Amino acid sequence: MKFTRQHWTTKPLRNAQNFDSVRHRELEEKIRRIVREFHACPLNGTDYVTYAMKERVRRVGKPDLEVPFYVGQTGDLGKRSLQHFKCGGQPTKDTASVYWRMYQIMRDYRIPVFEILERTQTLSASLLSESKWVHKFIGDGFQIYNQWDEHRPGKFSGSVPAKRLWGATLRQALMDNLRLSVACPKCGFQLELPLESIATVAPLDIQLLELRKTFRCPRCDETACLRLASYAEGK
Ligand SMILES: [Zn+2]
Repeated sequence: MKFTRQHWTTKPLRNAQNFDSVRHRELEEKIRRIVREFHACPLNGTDYVTYAMKERVRRVGKPDLEVPFYVGQTGDLGKRSLQHFKCGGQPTKDTASVYWRMYQIMRDYRIPVFEILERTQTLSASLLSESKWVHKFIGDGFQIYNQWDEHRPGKFSGSVPAKRLWGATLRQALMDNLRLSVACPKCGFQLELPLESIATVAPLDIQLLELRKTFRCPRCDETACLRLASYAEGK
């Protein structure tokens, strides 16, 4: 794995006599094991998880402390965790980045702890869960490295902004009852577009942003006329 290499400034031999090399291999093996476990996790591909990355801090005579520093959501924890480990193994000067934080841990041959916080059934519910957990941890006084606008202190309105939802497929949008409409900026035409009727003419795996690109206003032919409502719970 790439991330072990940049620890080596003098290119020591990668063999059993080299202490650094041994520690690197142990770290690699640990990471591989964790990613394998996540890949084997039965929820893979069927629903979503919200997870936290935490740093485990050892304390003498007391239980370990686990300090959360990032919250994520995914439908594929194996793939996502591997991405995190790869990026976290590269040094970065961006001290606001979660990967800067991960690197501080991994350069000591330690790995962040992944904790599953919540399982959800749909994409929007998962994104909402992520935001809620970010703000729970911020409220508890932890420094969280998430960088989306709605993840910043005081910026969460209780909903998922539409801009996060354009990447959803029609199938995902249907499951979340997302509301799509025509709101033409050019001629003022307005119309609700039930997703069920779109599904009769478009494939279920098309992304909403593809629809946005190709859809034309029925009255004036303008292209940039689709609007998506933000997602809130129980709506
Ligand atoms: Zn129009």
